[in-house]
Amino acid sequence: MNSAYHHRVSVLGELGTATSSQLASISPSILIPLGSTEQHGPHLPLDTDTRIATAVARGAEACLRARLEEWLVAPAVAYGASGEHQSFAGTISIGTEALTMLLVEYGRSAACWAQRLVFVNGHGGNVGALNSAVARLRAEGGDVGWCPCSAAGGDAHAGHTETSVLLHISPADVLTERWLAGNGAPLSELLPSMRRGGVAAVSEVGVLGDPTTATAADGERMLAEMVRVTRPGGTVFCAFTNWLSPWGGHETSPWHYVGGRRAAQIYYRRHGRQPKNLYGRSLYPFSVRQALRWARMRGDADLIDAVPRYLPGWSRPIVRLPGAREVLTWNLLLVLRRSPRAAGPQ
Ligand SMILES: [Zn+2]
Repeated sequence: MNSAYHHRVSVLGELGTATSSQLASISPSILIPLGSTEQHGPHLPLDTDTRIATAVARGAEACLRARLEEWLVAPAVAYGASGEHQSFAGTISIGTEALTMLLVEYGRSAACWAQRLVFVNGHGGNVGALNSAVARLRAEGGDVGWCPCSAAGGDAHAGHTETSVLLHISPADVLTERWLAGNGAPLSELLPSMRRGGVAAVSEVGVLGDPTTATAADGERMLAEMVRVTRPGGTVFCAFTNWLSPWGGHETSPWHYVGGRRAAQIYYRRHGRQPKNLYGRSLYPFSVRQALRWARMRGDADLIDAVPRYLPGWSRPIVRLPGAREVLTWNLLLVLRRSPRAAGPQ
C-alpha cells in the first residue's frame, strides 16, 4: 500500500505519531477523516474516499495551525456505509447502524481527552450515520461536528471530481488506461433507481460522472476548495419562499392555497403546459416553522438571524409569530454561521 496516509512518517499534527504523554498536558482538537472501502470504477482504488478525506483533513489542519490553533489529524476511519456499491467486488460496508454506533463510541472515548472533534467525511453514504451520531454526542454535551469534502459543481462517484483529486494526491494509483465514462445524469434523477438496485442499476462500470476528463491541476484546485470550505467560521445565507406566502406556489400562486397538486392542474388548464416548478419534485411545502427548526438543529452551524427578506426592518418580529408568520413573511432569509466547533459548510 502506498497511499499517502499509509506513510508512517512523522507529520506535524498527526495524532497517530504523538505519544500519550505529549497529549496529557494539552487539550487538543481532532479532525477525523471518515472514508469508505468501496468500488470506485475500474480505475480508482477502493480507499479513494478515505484518501480524499485524509487529504482534506490535513489541509484544514495546516490552515488551522497557521492560526495557532491546536488540531491533530486522527488515523482515518476507513470503513463506512456503502450498501449501494455492494454488488461490486471489493466493497466492504459496515452499514449505517454499525457506523452510527462506531462514531458514537469513538466520540465518547476521544472526548475524554480531546476538547473538540470534527469528522471530515469523504463518502455520501455516511451522512445518515454522521447526522445521528453527531446529534447524540452533542446531546451528551460533546463538542462534536462533521463536514463533507465538497467542491462546487463536482460529479457524484469516481467521475471527474474524485479522479482529478486522486491524480493530484496519488497519481500512481489512478489506472488512466482503464477509465470509462459512467452515467452522467444528475444524482437526483438516478436516486430512485439506485435506492432499488444500487449503483449497478444505473452504471455497469460503477462510475457516476466522467473520469476521462480528469486532470491533476483540476484536482489540486478542487482539493484547495474542499479545504477552504472546511475551515470554520464562515457565514452562510440561505433564503426561500415559504409555502403559505402569497408567492409560495411560485408561478402556480395563488392556487397553491388549494393544494400543490391542484395548483399545478389549474396552471396546466390555463397555460396548456406544466409549471416550471413541479410540486413534490422542485417545489415543496416548506414552512417558516420547519426552516427555523432545521436551522436550529444543525450540528455544524449556528443560526444567527432569521428575517423576512423583502420587508422593512420593523417587520422582523413577524418571524416570531407562529401561524401569522407563515403568510406574512413572504420570503425568509436565514443567516447561519459555521460553528467554530464544527467546520461544515452544509
Ligand atoms: Zn468516492
